[in-house]
Amino acid sequence: MSKGKILNTYARFDVTAVEGKGCLIYDKNGKEYIDFVSGVAVNCLGHCHPTIIKAIQEQSCKLMHVSNLYWNEQQMELAEKLCEFSGLQGAFFCNSGTEAVEAAVKFARKYGKLKGGIAKHEIIYMKNSFHGRTLGALSVTGQEKYQKDFMPLIPGVKSIEFNDTDKLRSEMNSNICAIIVEPIQGEGGIIAAQKSFLEEAKQLCEKYEALLIFDEVQCGIGRLGSLFAFEKFGVTPDLVCLAKGLGGGFPIGAVVASEKVAESISYGDHGSTFGGNPLACSVALAILGELTENGVLTNVEHMSQYLVGKLQGLKEKHDSIKDIRGMGLLVGLQLSIDTKGFVNQCIEKGLLLVGAGADVVRLLPPLNIEAEYIDRAVDIIDSVLSR
Ligand SMILES: *Cc1c(COP(=O)(O)O)cnc(C)c1O
Repeated sequence: MSKGKILNTYARFDVTAVEGKGCLIYDKNGKEYIDFVSGVAVNCLGHCHPTIIKAIQEQSCKLMHVSNLYWNEQQMELAEKLCEFSGLQGAFFCNSGTEAVEAAVKFARKYGKLKGGIAKHEIIYMKNSFHGRTLGALSVTGQEKYQKDFMPLIPGVKSIEFNDTDKLRSEMNSNICAIIVEPIQGEGGIIAAQKSFLEEAKQLCEKYEALLIFDEVQCGIGRLGSLFAFEKFGVTPDLVCLAKGLGGGFPIGAVVASEKVAESISYGDHGSTFGGNPLACSVALAILGELTENGVLTNVEHMSQYLVGKLQGLKEKHDSIKDIRGMGLLVGLQLSIDTKGFVNQCIEKGLLLVGAGADVVRLLPPLNIEAEYIDRAVDIIDSVLSR
């Protein structure tokens, strides 16, 4: 839907949101919606969570922005926490998912150059992946629809079929500086990596002195029930990209890097004016606190089981549900009916969902969701499928 002076980059639904509280949002007509999109895995604590509000209020009175020419305590503390929880060695801060991927790609190129000279600049990425819209991230996004009108993209990249271990092995050589992968493909339709595929990728990276990059922009920050998605797969990457849930609605992105990457980075290699400002970092610190100390991760595990159980009940009743996918509160419903029409009918009945891939709809409730709202959401899905 096109309206007013906003460029047509998004096909928007006819909802103008004005207010939110927990997992509910309200439009300008006062209609209430259960929000199972959460800003596409952004509002991890729901809307207007008191802890987030408090962090913004307190920090905005003290110091909002200071140049990265100087230190700020919130950025240092956030880097400490991300390293402590991941077991990695250093963090870089930016403002979005695509910027986190850009940073990881640059760090991989730098590392490659130090290890093998200019020839060692190639990157392997996965078909059906999504890593962002800026030119570097777009170059490793394995979907034609995003790339086709923006050629030529950056050279030295090649894609393989996701989870094809043999192909990965045969494409690997000493000119590869990185493999980039989403532990669970989000935009592509909620498709999980096989543990054995990630293990092989890790081994190959070690063998060929390349870096393993995990894009956890969507599946990280508690979405799967662990703070980092990689914990669920038992494979630690060299670089992990974060954004979306990290700020719970306040823009922030980050890359967390292993020791060998950290050692290869020097002054001037990368930067961001806004990245890691005290305001954004104080919000991210508040969120990490909620997730790790206030039982939110446990809630993800419980509510995931509860939601998937209820969806399985629906699947027995409705042939139009072909598959239930995902992990934690990153859940996909594969449908045999038109997903766009389905999402529109859910909106009509007061439930927000978002498509993924050609025939999947995503359910991304906030991580602190309560059973009562899952009941209400599943009832709406049931009634739409019963039509
Ligand atoms: C959303 C997303 C991105 C891009 O994030 P932006 O903040 O929109 O730039 C990158 N990777 C994955 C896996 C995503 O889901």
